[in-house]
Amino acid sequence: MDARQVREREKDFINLPVVTAIGTEIIDNAKTRLSDKIYARNARTLTVLWSEKLNFNAVASIRSDGTHEITFNYGVSVETYRDAFLLPQFCVREFSKPQYDELFEALSFDGRRQALPVGLSVEDAKIDIQVFGLTWLYAHEQAHLFQHHGECEAQLLGLKDGPDGSSLSELPVNGATPLSGAHASIRHALELAADHEATLFLISSLSAGSGLTPSKLWCFVVSLMCTFLRLHNETDAGAVSAPFGSHPKPAYRMRIAIRQILGLFDLPDVEGRFQGIRDPAHAAQIMEHASLTATVYWHIRYLKREKFPEFLKNALLPTSVPEEYAKAVFWTWASLRPLVLTKADGWGQGSVMYLRDFESLM
Ligand SMILES: [Zn+2]
Repeated sequence: MDARQVREREKDFINLPVVTAIGTEIIDNAKTRLSDKIYARNARTLTVLWSEKLNFNAVASIRSDGTHEITFNYGVSVETYRDAFLLPQFCVREFSKPQYDELFEALSFDGRRQALPVGLSVEDAKIDIQVFGLTWLYAHEQAHLFQHHGECEAQLLGLKDGPDGSSLSELPVNGATPLSGAHASIRHALELAADHEATLFLISSLSAGSGLTPSKLWCFVVSLMCTFLRLHNETDAGAVSAPFGSHPKPAYRMRIAIRQILGLFDLPDVEGRFQGIRDPAHAAQIMEHASLTATVYWHIRYLKREKFPEFLKNALLPTSVPEEYAKAVFWTWASLRPLVLTKADGWGQGSVMYLRDFESLM
């Protein structure tokens, strides 16, 4: 079956009214859990809007009357569903072929070659990847609003809000006139701060109760990698040493998220947060496997279907974020964070990204 035939078949399982209804329900649940109490307490209003546009985008806005708004395109529901449906199938049908042995043997954890983690069904993976992907994106948009990132960006750059207030859009990453220099550094720092709060929320809620399991962690990282790649909308090849465009490279966002999650093992109340995840090294193996599986899936499905394994050298996650890049974002965030702290009115200052040094981003 070639790429065109696969896409033809996808039309059969993407039922737009059903998929958008599922997406709306997941986002509504996220709003109830994350936002409603806080907005009631602060006597503010948050409105979630849907646009019928089918590209993958979300926008966080604060209107001039103080109303907060998050707008999702239908494309967010459709594309998240597509990956949630296809990726677990790829694990079972495609990645079981001998040509992938070398890759998945290198990524072995718990002493075995596995593409879909043992004990995780295709159906459960589909549901979790979809729910985690959409809930994380909601939490990321909410973080832009809770931390008033649009206002902070305007204030730092000496810009005035438009007549409708301030807005941060996830697209375009590299539009006709991509951001560079100080403006790019500010946006990258704000995006990473929103990533930080969203990941903190997701991991905290997943590790509450009976604890975070290897399968849940795997599904979360897969959903996150697909979201990062989807937002960037291009191959992730090559390193960059300075912030460029509106958003960090997917591989850098993933590397920083993995580091943040591993940092949870240093917390005093780590007991009971994890179920079946033995230590940071085990968590790191699961997350490397998930992020690389999602990257390989992405390349085959969307970019260079026939070229495995030649593309791997470009698809592999860098083992660290380049020092120059980490320093640029660190020093920008060091000057930006005090301003964000004066405005943050969501979960409080504990959810605002703290960086001890630039190595924290590597
Ligand atoms: Zn963002």
